[in-house]
Amino acid sequence: MIKTILVATDGSEHAKKALALASDLGAKYNARLVLVHVLLTNARAETLRTLATRRGLSKDQRDLLENYEIDFHREVAAAGAAGGFVTVPPPRELVKAIGRQIMDRAEKAATKAGVKKVVMHTVEGDPAEAILELAASSKASMIIMGSRGLSDFKGLLLGSISHKVSAQAECTCVTVK
Ligand code: ATP
Ligand code: MG
Repeated sequence: MIKTILVATDGSEHAKKALALASDLGAKYNARLVLVHVLLTNARAETLRTLATRRGLSKDQRDLLENYEIDFHREVAAAGAAGGFVTVPPPRELVKAIGRQIMDRAEKAATKAGVKKVVMHTVEGDPAEAILELAASSKASMIIMGSRGLSDFKGLLLGSISHKVSAQAECTCVTVK
């Protein structure tokens, strides 16, 4: 019996497909959907730009996004010249606002697909650890996630989060292509 399905979303296209499958199963089995998003505290500026619905951001949040893009690209140029990594993190308030948008969209999609019970968790920390802990504490029968996520190393079949979660999960873990 499938009672609880945990679905992890970073807002990526793969995660949307994972949510679609989870919602379909959730509606059919009348299962509870536990949605988890781990705040994108290390996201690149262009990733946040792609994920954000600008209309859904306040003026202050749009300014934060624009200023972060400027800082980020300045750092990219400097790091490129020095052969280093970009270390400038996005503002927390912006990351939280975009997390809210990701979760709102996910909740709407699940409800529209006919899921009756949706529980949402937005957390911070190591995404794989957070997904594994929540799967255990919510007694999930199954975890559904994307095989890949937001990064653009297209060559890899599995991202590092889906790899770690599917290796360590105690329950069935489906990675959606
Ligand atoms: P990597 O991050 O290892 O460079 P990637 O971004 O392509 O590669 P993953 O991060 O492993 O791949 O993403 C695979 C899936 O893991 C996503 O589709 C999503 O279901 C889940 N996931 C990844 N990051 C998060 C997150 N921050 N919060 C919730 N779920 C996540
Ligand atoms: Mg990722």
